[in-house]
Amino acid sequence: MKIGFIGLGIMGKPMAKNLLKAGYQLWVHDLNRAAVRELVDQGAHECFTPREVAENVAVVLTMLPNSPQVQEVILGKNGVLEGASAGTIIVDMSSIAPLVAREVAARALEQGVVMLDAPVSGGEPKAIDGTLAIMVGGPPEACAQVRDILSVMGSSVVRVGEVGSGNVAKLANQIIVALNIAAMSEAFVLATKAGVDPEVVFQAIRGGLAGSTVLDAKMPLVLSGDFKPGFRIELHIKDLQNALDTARAIGVPVPLSSQVMEIMQALRVAGKEKDDHGGIIQFYEQLAQVSVRKAT
Ligand code: NAD
Repeated sequence: MKIGFIGLGIMGKPMAKNLLKAGYQLWVHDLNRAAVRELVDQGAHECFTPREVAENVAVVLTMLPNSPQVQEVILGKNGVLEGASAGTIIVDMSSIAPLVAREVAARALEQGVVMLDAPVSGGEPKAIDGTLAIMVGGPPEACAQVRDILSVMGSSVVRVGEVGSGNVAKLANQIIVALNIAAMSEAFVLATKAGVDPEVVFQAIRGGLAGSTVLDAKMPLVLSGDFKPGFRIELHIKDLQNALDTARAIGVPVPLSSQVMEIMQALRVAGKEKDDHGGIIQFYEQLAQVSVRKAT
């Protein structure tokens, strides 16, 4: 089957590579031509616009930073909808505002194109392994049609509801992850300044109720001072902004998310927005004047 892939960044590139390995024919596009060339070297077809991608395939996948890029790539000049035919399926796997997903899907449907929103969780390691958690919103028939494709990239593919609901699930995911990292940071700064080895505390608590996927993924990186992304703080700010906007629009107070948003804004001011979100701990380290690192 012929598939299009637009957005070959930290996540999109390994996801596209897995589709090639699984035997799909791929038409690819990104503003970053080096990323396109890397995929072309592995057998993908090179395209210069989203329109050109859509003209060649039955299913177009997008993995872009946020709502404005998705709107531009799908609805804009030389966009996907200019090249798509009735029956084309678009699967937007970016994390965007649920309302925007609904609006773009409605515009697509005017020309007989179904759009699903299918954001992912798991980060670069799971994108490489093909073990992402994928949360899908859209009509059940279209979801069924792309399930095999999504299963190449993810070990869990769950249809959450109608279009937009994939991104609602992703916002819930991002609130939980952000608050977990902040809680972990607060706790380990306290333990370290109290004079206890943070690596030993990590080993002592990871098997108990405080243990979590976040703790296991982020604490080893914190202990070695490795804040290379992964998932950049600036992208998490984007997701929390989408969460705060959605919460405001439907009347849901989100006090803890608002506080973690301010912490991430402070890190942005300090020039750390390109760090991995595990770097949230640097805010707490600065406040308490302590460094949570492995004993050397
Ligand atoms: P990224 O910035 O590494 O990649 C985005 C890619 O889109 C870049 O290669 C960029 O050149 C391309 N792009 C941007 N605008 C474009 C346009 N108009 N036309 C064509 N290409 C364009 O971001 P990423 O980390 O791969 O994240 C992508 C999405 O996945 C985001 O919504 C992010 O929130 C989400 N996500 C990321 C992670 C992670 O750990 N990085 C995890 C889960 C979900």
